[in-house]
Amino acid sequence: MSGSMPKLLVHACCAPCATVPLARLLERYSLVFYFFGPNIQPQAEYQRRLDEMRRFCDLAQVVLLEAEYQPEIWRQKVGPFLHQAEGSFTERCQSCYRLRMEGTARRAVADGFDAFTVTLSLSRHKNSKVLAEIGQQVGRQFGVEYLAEDFKKRDGFKTSVLRSKELALYRQDYCGCLPSLREAEMRRQRKLAVTG
Ligand code: SF4
Repeated sequence: MSGSMPKLLVHACCAPCATVPLARLLERYSLVFYFFGPNIQPQAEYQRRLDEMRRFCDLAQVVLLEAEYQPEIWRQKVGPFLHQAEGSFTERCQSCYRLRMEGTARRAVADGFDAFTVTLSLSRHKNSKVLAEIGQQVGRQFGVEYLAEDFKKRDGFKTSVLRSKELALYRQDYCGCLPSLREAEMRRQRKLAVTG
């Protein structure tokens, strides 16, 4: 890590979503990834995403910090909103973003980072303005700068798909929690019913 660049802690939800943020931030920041996924279920899926993140960081020669797997804190925080739909404008997903941002900000402060951010804005399903608003609130709460980026811009998502293919990275087809797994399955079934 270069001593002259600001130190940035980047929450990564999975390896494919880390590819584009790495390419875009590496020239401006001394970057470390953070894997903190209390939302990911079942545990075998959590392990699979973590293993892939380790492999990607080895390939990219970037440091990876890992949190413990704590699905119970996700259930505590997001449980009351599980009847809501998946989306950036529901309390279900906003409370989930906030939980992961709080964990990242806490770690950033503890380890002396100058700023933190998340890779979540790469997803076409996640609104970058909502993420920026929550990230800035969390940054103020913990006294550390939140870097607001919209990684889906400039074909970010498409680029991540191509890069993941090149590196043969595992790409899951649901966000992370069990309700999102069921929602993805329902989307698949609807598509099948339409296409026959
Ligand atoms: S769909 Fe994704 S962001 Fe929303 S609650 Fe589930 S894991 Fe969190």
